[in-house]
Amino acid sequence: MATAGKVIKCRAAVAWEPTAPLKIEEIEVAPPQEGEIRIKVVATGVCHTDLYHLFEGKDKRGFPSVLGHEGAGVVESVGPGVTDFKPGDKVIPLFLSQCGECKFCKSPKTNLCDRNWSSKYHDIMSDPTTRLTCRGRPILQFMGTSTFSEYTVINQIAVGKIADDAPLDRVCLLSCGISTGYGAAVNTAGVTPGSVCAVFGLGAVGLAAVMGCKNAGASRIFAVDINEQKFEKAKVFGATDFLNPKAYNKPISEVLAEMTNGGVDFSLECVGNTEVMRTALESCVKGWGVSVLVGWTDVKDFSARPIQLISGKTWKGSLFGGFKSKDSVPNLVCDYMSGKIKLDEFITHKMSLEQVNDAVNLMKTGQCIRCILNISK
Ligand code: NAD
Ligand code: ZN
Repeated sequence: MATAGKVIKCRAAVAWEPTAPLKIEEIEVAPPQEGEIRIKVVATGVCHTDLYHLFEGKDKRGFPSVLGHEGAGVVESVGPGVTDFKPGDKVIPLFLSQCGECKFCKSPKTNLCDRNWSSKYHDIMSDPTTRLTCRGRPILQFMGTSTFSEYTVINQIAVGKIADDAPLDRVCLLSCGISTGYGAAVNTAGVTPGSVCAVFGLGAVGLAAVMGCKNAGASRIFAVDINEQKFEKAKVFGATDFLNPKAYNKPISEVLAEMTNGGVDFSLECVGNTEVMRTALESCVKGWGVSVLVGWTDVKDFSARPIQLISGKTWKGSLFGGFKSKDSVPNLVCDYMSGKIKLDEFITHKMSLEQVNDAVNLMKTGQCIRCILNISK
């Protein structure tokens, strides 16, 4: 490609500071270095974790940055030492890497990779070893990815190669929300056939968790959200019962205990709220109930009564649904193409990069499930 080895000037949505609207800017994207890949981003979803960084985490050290971590694109050029990718390959950037060599990658017990940006920069949620600059300043790469940009550069350990015929404006959702919720149910919780489940929070992550519970054979799936407009979609993914905690004058864990003879077998928190995390644990049945934290927050402690765990419940967390990223994402793309998992049903809006603040606002006000930004052709 004519651009290989040169700096590319392109458009990106820059988050200059916490809470301020994103600004469409011309940025410079440096050529990929040893082991890196420069990707032309075709489409990206907007995930609540982007909003978390902007409005909830608000750590100034994580700015200025280019947000976006739910993208898909095409390889523009590769740096020295890259042999598994070539220009034109369809790829998915991964906010969680898989180097294949660290002790975590070698263990079947986890999908964490020690070489991920988060090992060093977890607090600021961004990678400062960035290839992006704007107005003479380095622009951090949010979650190591930065897909709200026409081009980005990512280490090959955090890029998944996918099928040539995959529709990028849909499979982009597999780089975060859908894999996360789906895997949290099938991998982390280990939902079993015939079990009773409850999913708290019905954004894309929670709806994907509902889909995971359904595919794992759950017999009853409670969908819990304070926004009742989400219930119709939850039905599409397999939810059987719908609860709005605000409609009851007692804790929703008690309501669930009454409706299930003691509590659910599996609960998944897909909101990112420490109170809901506690409620999800309390909603589990004693003896064997498993509750999984999927929602993201790192600004508050959580609490629960020890008896909750002494009585035999298990409290776990899940990052990227427990999937080893590079190995799993290409398979998940095949699962979508063969109809095993749904993706189209999550997409409620499509917009351009210029409309990114509208997309952020839709999520902030609970009006969308996933808005896809078409970044380039
Ligand atoms: P979203 O904003 O689309 O959905 C959140 C849903 O929670 C909304 O439907 C909202 O109405 C509902 N909600 C809010 N308060 C509630 C309450 N008190 N009780 C019940 N429901 C409530 O967000 P999303 O994109 O689906 O992401 C969900 C969470 O998952 C976020 O915290 C996000 O950061 C996190 N996340 C985690 C990972 C991971 O690897 N663990 C990956 C991606 C996203
Ligand atoms: Zn995400």
